[in-house]
Amino acid sequence: MSTRRDLRTEPGREKLSELALIADADQRARDYVEGIENRDVFPAADAIAQLERFQETLPISGRPGEETLKLLDEAGSPATVASNGPRYFGFVIGATLPVAAAAERMVLAWDQCASSFTNSPVADALEKQAAKWTLEMLDLPRDSAVSFGTSASACGLACLTAARRALLQRAGWDFDVEGLNGAPPIRVVVSETVHITVLKALRILGFGTRHVIRAAVDAEGRVDVERLPPLDDRTILCLQAGEVNTGEFDPFGPLIERAHAVGAWVHVDGAFGLWARASQEKRHLTDGIERADSWTTDGHKWLNTPYDGAMGICRDPAALAAAMNSDAAYSSAAADSQKNLGLEFSRRARGIPIWAVLRTLGRDGVAELVDRHCRQARRLAQGLREAGFEILNRVTLNQVLLRLDSEATTRIFQERAAESGQVWFGTTIWQGRAAVRLSVSSWRTTDEDIEATLRILANLR
Ligand SMILES: *Cc1c(COP(=O)(O)O)cnc(C)c1O
Repeated sequence: MSTRRDLRTEPGREKLSELALIADADQRARDYVEGIENRDVFPAADAIAQLERFQETLPISGRPGEETLKLLDEAGSPATVASNGPRYFGFVIGATLPVAAAAERMVLAWDQCASSFTNSPVADALEKQAAKWTLEMLDLPRDSAVSFGTSASACGLACLTAARRALLQRAGWDFDVEGLNGAPPIRVVVSETVHITVLKALRILGFGTRHVIRAAVDAEGRVDVERLPPLDDRTILCLQAGEVNTGEFDPFGPLIERAHAVGAWVHVDGAFGLWARASQEKRHLTDGIERADSWTTDGHKWLNTPYDGAMGICRDPAALAAAMNSDAAYSSAAADSQKNLGLEFSRRARGIPIWAVLRTLGRDGVAELVDRHCRQARRLAQGLREAGFEILNRVTLNQVLLRLDSEATTRIFQERAAESGQVWFGTTIWQGRAAVRLSVSSWRTTDEDIEATLRILANLR
């Protein structure tokens, strides 16, 4: 042990109360997780009403920590959404795997500022290992830079910043010094079904939504190669792996070939879908994706790690490092330090739970997780079709999209399912009409949960 003997003392009163508080939190957390399968998936009205207990006046003098924790648990826990449970099918949320939750507790105890080696050798080493394994698992170019950011939103912003800067540099424009005033225009082409967070990043970066060019898609929501707008060496093409409604993939091979033939930059939003690459069965859907220039994906969705854990991956490490550098006289670090690859300067070591999951599941485990969810989604679709629902997508991944006879009945169905407290999923608009969308992405979802869900939904029809 590397604690210094001569500094050690018997734990005093404060230390004991710190340890008691942590033990109390651990016990409450254990009780919560123990009961997760039996919770209302969406909190009932009376539980939500209890949230009023948080509306206190700001204390003049502080309150005991134990009392704060008690309130947090007693008023807070019942009003949680059980997305960490087995029958939450909203969005693609995933639950947190046990080893990820456990590693997260260690990360909290360590309380590292994971900016660079100097700030935390252990975080630097583990995030580098997580980066290496992520590239191997996703079979992306092994020299790519990996930034562990808070979300696919933030990582997408970082990648798109790097993309624009690199294209301008190739055009002889020094973006860092000159900024955008008078810069050669950079065009952006996105899918008609682009995720809102990519549009948000483009808006923040000043591209202007009116100027973002939309590529036409086919019936499944994939960019249509034949109708691809013209590209050139000042274009960023944004593709996607896992369309939010259908779970479909753009045809990366031919699209990236066209883009690269003229020198365009290709960015792929693979928030959840990129993990399909881990599966032998599904990998073909992503063929050619490895030739893109940058990619974003989340740990906190399909990999079942805690929030906020995502990855921005850039083929040219120097491009990302130059765009994101934040070295200062008092804080300079290697180009591949996390603070020089992403938005945050001070940051928590969010790559560590990702490392823990990759190590604990291994290649086979991640593939099994993906395959199981895809199989469960197919079973859901089959059962729902038999129960008379109209399934709107091909169910190639973990997404099931369906509708009832009308917009009103579709929405009522979603509301009644939510009110049951036994399952939850959301609504969407697909091809101009209301639909509901079920995503299977929790490691806790068993085949029995799928059968139970089918029984519940058949009764609600
Ligand atoms: C969830 C999602 C995002 C945004 O990811 P965050 O981590 O929530 O920021 C982007 N694209 C797709 C396809 C998504 O599903």
